[in-house]
Amino acid sequence: MPAPPAEALAETLRPLTDAPQQAAVFCDVDGTLAPIVERAENAAVPEDTSRLLGRLGRRYGCVACISGRSVAEARRMVAVGSIAYAGSHGAELLEPSATRAAIVPAFSTWTGRVHDFAAQYDVRELRLLRIRLEDKGPIVAFHWRGAPDEDAARTRLEGIAQEAEVAGFAIHWGRKVLEVRPPVPIDKGQAIRELVSRHPVRAALFGGDDVTDLDGFAALVTLREEGRLESIVRVGVRSEEGPREIHEQADLVVDGTSGFAEVLTALAG
Ligand SMILES: [Mg+2]
Repeated sequence: MPAPPAEALAETLRPLTDAPQQAAVFCDVDGTLAPIVERAENAAVPEDTSRLLGRLGRRYGCVACISGRSVAEARRMVAVGSIAYAGSHGAELLEPSATRAAIVPAFSTWTGRVHDFAAQYDVRELRLLRIRLEDKGPIVAFHWRGAPDEDAARTRLEGIAQEAEVAGFAIHWGRKVLEVRPPVPIDKGQAIRELVSRHPVRAALFGGDDVTDLDGFAALVTLREEGRLESIVRVGVRSEEGPREIHEQADLVVDGTSGFAEVLTALAG
């Protein structure tokens, strides 16, 4: 599918741009705002994109970045203080006016147990495979992007995933990452529901590139079915390694982070 022409894009976004104070703009961070790079810690949001988000924050009823990273990480990367952040797939929420993130209590009680589980894998064997552990508060992520033998790394992590499940944790596979999470139903969709409940918006857009973003798409559909939202726009950010469902379920498909930046530009008017 070619990129949408400017007029078609403007038409799709009209429910938001016509009444921005009653509209919400939600977006994923990695792969949507920030290009995917070999090492997750080197990912960065382009300055122009941050500036656009700052402008949108002044114009729209609610603007939020919804990330698998911790809110602290997401805000450091995006570097806009005037918008909201939902981190760890919605387990943490940071409103623009708040100084501290709120953690969903059902989640925070598991933090110690998740850390104890991960600690046993912080070993030389995994480092040799170049599997990197990331502490995301109540979630621990095992990254294998850039491993010299990706198949070996993936196979080892399949073993860890099994052990995590046996130990009672939830697991989640993303783009070259395995996450071990509390067995509590938390996802980006719930973050969107929470944000919509806090802001009097009638239209909402969510842009994402990966499996976890499908929960965000689904939440928008449910909110519209419930009559809570009148209009929704699901923006699928296409990438080579992203799941097919991202474009299948999207109302609008764009190519990579630059394609999504064009959507932000159109929203800024
Ligand atoms: Mg992403």
